[in-house]
Amino acid sequence: MKAMKLTGIRQMEMMEVPDPVPVNDHDVLIRMKTLGVCGSDIHYYVSGRIGSQVVQYPFTVGHEGAGEVVAVGKAVTRVGPGKRVAIEPAMPCWGCDQCLAGRPHTCRKLRFLGCPGQAEGSLSELIVMPETSCYPFPDSMTYDQAAISEPLAVGLYAVRQSIPMEGARVGVLGFGPIGMSVLLPALALGAKEVYVTDKIEERLAIARSSGAILTANPDSEDVVTKITAEVPEMLDVVFECCGQQDALENGVDLLKPGGKLMIIGIPQFDHWHIPVGKSRHKELTFQNVRRQNEAVQPALDMMAEGRISVDKMVTHRFGFDRTREAFDLVAGYREGVMKAMIDF
Ligand SMILES: [Zn+2]
Ligand SMILES: [Zn+2]
Repeated sequence: MKAMKLTGIRQMEMMEVPDPVPVNDHDVLIRMKTLGVCGSDIHYYVSGRIGSQVVQYPFTVGHEGAGEVVAVGKAVTRVGPGKRVAIEPAMPCWGCDQCLAGRPHTCRKLRFLGCPGQAEGSLSELIVMPETSCYPFPDSMTYDQAAISEPLAVGLYAVRQSIPMEGARVGVLGFGPIGMSVLLPALALGAKEVYVTDKIEERLAIARSSGAILTANPDSEDVVTKITAEVPEMLDVVFECCGQQDALENGVDLLKPGGKLMIIGIPQFDHWHIPVGKSRHKELTFQNVRRQNEAVQPALDMMAEGRISVDKMVTHRFGFDRTREAFDLVAGYREGVMKAMIDF
């Protein structure tokens, strides 16, 4: 089969590699149909690492995918050949203290698609996944929607971990795919007002047409002044979705006393700086979000029920051969790109 492999910093090559072979009775062989390019794939492409996770070349990234089942191991009951599935990239061990405590996303022996040292990613024609990672979806849904269930699940999980959304005033700082994946479930679950910041005007336009009450661009205006002019009592919860120090500090300024700052963005640096006085006087809660837990099926359900539409997230598409163009586009934040999809 063909696999698109990273071969160096900002380098990738299509390679011919052996087809993956199911080894366990619970394994499922999947033919990839669609894949969304994720910010974390781009981190590996441009810098070869995220924190301590360093790429050994050649390596396949990619983890936001959907495909069609080709074959299943003899113990598989969830899906059969021909089934269309959304692929949950996390492969927990199901036996460690974290897994047994209902936290498989922080499994001690977690393997995650396209994560160096754990598992090759899904930028390949075929992949093998355990059946627990395969989520069948209804005929009314598209492969795009199925693939987007991955980032959407991260946003939905972050929303669920935050505060009750009913009547909440919410800030979303950074409106890439993850920011959008926070805004959509926040509104679907009853948030009263969502305020959005981003440096890309096209993204802010998508935010407004998706239900944001007010947007602000930190490159051209003081986002804190603009938002607090509208809502002087300030926000109940802020989601940092871009991994920028400035955004975190904006979040501290935008929150009301007792507010909660959810940290989802992956920064390029190693340490956040938290302003002591403001965060202490307001008694703010900071909570990190690590991917998602138990949110893939509800994300698929919310799309199937029409409660969430992710259509506006997909701004670009490329054939598998042109994956590199997709990565360069996303890495350069060009053409108002939100989510670039790869079609196999
Ligand atoms: Zn992702
Ligand atoms: Zn585990």
